[in-house]
Amino acid sequence: MIPNIHYSELKDSYLFRRIAEKTAAWQQEHPGEYLYRMGIGDVTLPLCPAVIRALHEAVDDQAEKKTFHGYMPECGDPTLRETIAAYYRRLGVELKAEEVFVSSGASDELGDILDLFGRDKTVAIPEPAYPAYVDANIMAGNRILHIPSGRESMFLPMPDPDMDADIYYICSPNNPTGAVYRKDQLKEWVDFVRRKDGLILFDAAYESFIEEEDIPHSIFEIPGAESCAIEICSLSKTAGFTGTRCGYTVIPEALERGGMNLNRMWVRNRTTKTNGVSYIIQRGAAAVFTEEGQEQIRQNIKVYKQNAVRLMKALDRCGVKYTGGRNAPYIWAECPHGTGSWEFFDLLLNRCHVVATPGEGFGSCGEGYIRFSVFGTPEDTEEAAQRIEQFLNN
Ligand code: PLP
Repeated sequence: MIPNIHYSELKDSYLFRRIAEKTAAWQQEHPGEYLYRMGIGDVTLPLCPAVIRALHEAVDDQAEKKTFHGYMPECGDPTLRETIAAYYRRLGVELKAEEVFVSSGASDELGDILDLFGRDKTVAIPEPAYPAYVDANIMAGNRILHIPSGRESMFLPMPDPDMDADIYYICSPNNPTGAVYRKDQLKEWVDFVRRKDGLILFDAAYESFIEEEDIPHSIFEIPGAESCAIEICSLSKTAGFTGTRCGYTVIPEALERGGMNLNRMWVRNRTTKTNGVSYIIQRGAAAVFTEEGQEQIRQNIKVYKQNAVRLMKALDRCGVKYTGGRNAPYIWAECPHGTGSWEFFDLLLNRCHVVATPGEGFGSCGEGYIRFSVFGTPEDTEEAAQRIEQFLNN
């Protein structure tokens, strides 16, 4: 028996594993030294009180016969699905609860959703990109069309008449570049993909960091997207659910290809491949969407945004060029004096005790860039920003 041969096409070391290995080796050589971690995009603030209260109540429900819940509906608790649909209404997007699928997080969905398309599809991935897009498609046996981008487009590649793919990934606000598409730019993508009869997989994991008016939170704010897009969302960065695990995916009922309805196909998929997200976690997720929960998560996001401002000011003072930081929790900076990504990673580690993420890990066009995550504590971010500034100014 030959297992999935495509696994042998994967690059042997996943970006964050290599960073972890380098960091662990450094720590072994420098015992007791503190590291300022701006590498992996994991949150540091705890869950907000409204969520914690809901989780506790849900645990208590499971202790009583009359409030106990067993299997949950595979596509999500109907009340939570409706709550999320109501959240979209605030953005001016009309959705039915049945178009929202509660998930265990965006990563799971980004891989699983490929089930809908079968094998041997062509998938366009604008780069630099979140590495899971590439790896999930290699595993699925798809052909990848790498779409490189750079500073000339401010890392916001636009459709090109020669691009020809079945599926187009769009991530806005973007990981790793922090770049965000405006409404008119997303409209151009939607119009293009509709003409091509393709499909957009829109990753909105960072939508809650958007602060500017003209930046859509959802692809469905663009007319026509309901017939060409699937949106994948996460509570990981929005509400600190990285370790709690919950997200949601929107598949419009109007979305059809080849006479097949993708919403119905996903219902069929979920009812086969999952028994749903746990009752307790869905109760915690529902609390995120209450008025109290929304106010509390806004406060947490504000802390991360202030971190971004601290670091941006330091980079500005050093004349370093970057994107992101305003509508996204990442700052994508040009490595000074033409330094390579991994070389600059080593310099930051050795000279500043700061861990960042080398841009090259997000696609070859990321070479020469470094990504800073602003999910650390304000104290660490302040110290790291000072150290980086001092190092770059010398
Ligand atoms: N999509 C992007 C662009 C991300 O950066 C991440 C996590 O960092 C995810 C998806 C995964 O989110 P989740 O924690 O919900 O799996």
